Amino acid sequence: MHNDEATEKLIGPVLNEQLLPEHRPDKPEEACGVYAVMASSQPVANLAYFGLYALQHRGQESAGIAVFDGDEQVRLHKDMGLVSQVFDQDVLERLPGQLAIGHNRYSTTGSSKVCNAQPVLLNTSRGPFALAHNGNLVNAADLRHDLAHLASELTSTTDSELIAFALQEAVNAGLDWDRAIRQAAARCRGAFSLVIGTPDGLFALRDGHGIRPLVFGHLGDREQAQWVVSSETCGLDIIGATFDGDVLPGEIIHFRHGDANPERSRWIEEPAKLCVFEMIYFARPDSRFFGESLYSYRVRIGEVLARETPVEADIVIGVPDSGIPAAIGYSQVSGIPFGDGLIKNRYVGRTFIQPTQAMREAGIRVKLNPLPDVLAGKRVVVIDDSIVRGTTSRKLVAALRDAGATEVHMRISSPPVTHPCFYGIDTDTQDQLIAARLTLEEIAAHLGVDSLAYLSKEGMVEAAQSHSEHFCTACFDGAYPIEMDESLRNSKLMLEPAGLAARSR
Ligand code: SF4
Repeated sequence: MHNDEATEKLIGPVLNEQLLPEHRPDKPEEACGVYAVMASSQPVANLAYFGLYALQHRGQESAGIAVFDGDEQVRLHKDMGLVSQVFDQDVLERLPGQLAIGHNRYSTTGSSKVCNAQPVLLNTSRGPFALAHNGNLVNAADLRHDLAHLASELTSTTDSELIAFALQEAVNAGLDWDRAIRQAAARCRGAFSLVIGTPDGLFALRDGHGIRPLVFGHLGDREQAQWVVSSETCGLDIIGATFDGDVLPGEIIHFRHGDANPERSRWIEEPAKLCVFEMIYFARPDSRFFGESLYSYRVRIGEVLARETPVEADIVIGVPDSGIPAAIGYSQVSGIPFGDGLIKNRYVGRTFIQPTQAMREAGIRVKLNPLPDVLAGKRVVVIDDSIVRGTTSRKLVAALRDAGATEVHMRISSPPVTHPCFYGIDTDTQDQLIAARLTLEEIAAHLGVDSLAYLSKEGMVEAAQSHSEHFCTACFDGAYPIEMDESLRNSKLMLEPAGLAARSR
């Protein structure tokens, strides 16, 4: 096993103003993207690079690719930054092989530093494996306790490394890869979509509820058995892979070199609970869920929103990018013309140096700039996908008024976010969530809008059509599908009456 030296260079915690509350993005933040590719016709590191590039929206703090060259040799490169910053052609050429495991990270457990970047690479009695994880364990403290005898070997503070150590322990106890992965998964509680490269091929699995997405497909002729696994279908599209299906909730799929039929089986049976925020906001609009693009789903959400929350106005605009399809749907049903009232700078990454508070007050607008030609003298309906703390929305409303909007009516294409997420999405503690603390009228006054309305939970379910029963909606209703440690629950549910904790289990 070989770890590229540049990979393990510790550049220290990225800790700066970005982590202060006033500098944190006012949106739920993405979890991670995972990717795997087995191929013989093309360099797998390059394919993984493009796959991670397509999944960049899921995590911008770090990126990594581990490549198996034969059964025993694994090379890993990972570092802080965007995919295009971490990898160049020279680095990719130093990663030859037939099986690549890739990861984009946004930290939900563990701080933001390179030792927490993935994939996790470990050795076992059966050879090395590389593991990439999207999600969040809710029993990480228990698992860390159970693995305390390995404490000196832990190199990170992530729950993903705990899954890897549980797997290493199972393999070293004599189990084959398939049984070892099942045993390790059974020790984990929470959200986990995993890709695991081993000397026995590639494994992909999801937790029993399938909270985070995972899909698979193939390159070229299926008989050639060149397999691709990705968090979203956009990771298949970018390299011309054909979509074959979802890795189902509770399913484990074993892809072997040269085998045209991967081995599919359930390791656990639980009700499906895909994160509904993946549909509303996180996943890319060109990714397909339940057989249609999220663009279509988000347009439909806008249509339902228009029926539920009508208002008289001259123009509908969307907050780019995820508010745009819903704004188009709202416009189609309401008959109010759609316009591009906000221009987004698409190149602001997480590592972007944030302006100081004084600069913000002086009018620095890094991400969004309103167009006065479109907005001046108009009654504006502005559609956004969610409000978390309300800080950005408040500034946005002020900017729209500065640009000449005579009225600002805000419509939100999801219900009020009243509960934090424990399953891999960073939504702050409950006391930071504006809808957990204030009434609708108070939020409207705080934002400075003429009116404010949210999509109802029923409307969100209606837009999901026949798939509505498959979703986790806990950040809107507190109905957490997975039991969690009391200390973890208490760490985020500041406003929750003690009794509710018991009821929602
Ligand atoms: S709590 Fe919210 S963000 Fe978290 S998985 Fe459930 S729906 Fe998604």
